[in-house]
Amino acid sequence: MGTRGREIVGIDVEEVLRLLNQAYASEWLAYYQYWLGAKLIKGPMKDAVAAELNLHATEELQHAVLVAGRILQLGGTPVLSPEGWLAMSPCKYDAPEDPYVAVLLDQNIAGEQCAITTYKELMDATKDKDMVTYNMALTILAQEVEHEEDLQSLKEDLELMVSRGSK
Ligand code: FE
Ligand code: FE
Ligand code: MG
Repeated sequence: MGTRGREIVGIDVEEVLRLLNQAYASEWLAYYQYWLGAKLIKGPMKDAVAAELNLHATEELQHAVLVAGRILQLGGTPVLSPEGWLAMSPCKYDAPEDPYVAVLLDQNIAGEQCAITTYKELMDATKDKDMVTYNMALTILAQEVEHEEDLQSLKEDLELMVSRGSK
């Protein structure tokens, strides 16, 4: 932890750490949901969708790396156990029980929408007060917005394919 770096944070550091650990917990759950979904997936366009799910999994893991780094810089401790991920995450873990492409896409779209809300809240809380966290949250938010759009666009392609194919 850098002492001057911590001093310049203009809001309660413990509050920032709480928000960061919530985001951190969600990233691990998102990582696993994507990673396992990519292995189980069944149905039309499964190869294209699996490739995107795998890419997103690696990007969620990179988000966890960024968030953990900021938690440590501020003198905090990243959530210590998988039980903690479930307890702390504002976004739920949606097990890929039904491996059909459209179901997995819907589950992960909901996850991205929750992630977008989480980082928006982190940005609102840190704006003009903790520029380093704010900037990191902006970087991640931009990627979550991209993730949502990627998945919604795959869902649209899938729906077009299924509806046209049945005529
Ligand atoms: Fe993420
Ligand atoms: Fe994402
Ligand atoms: Mg993508």
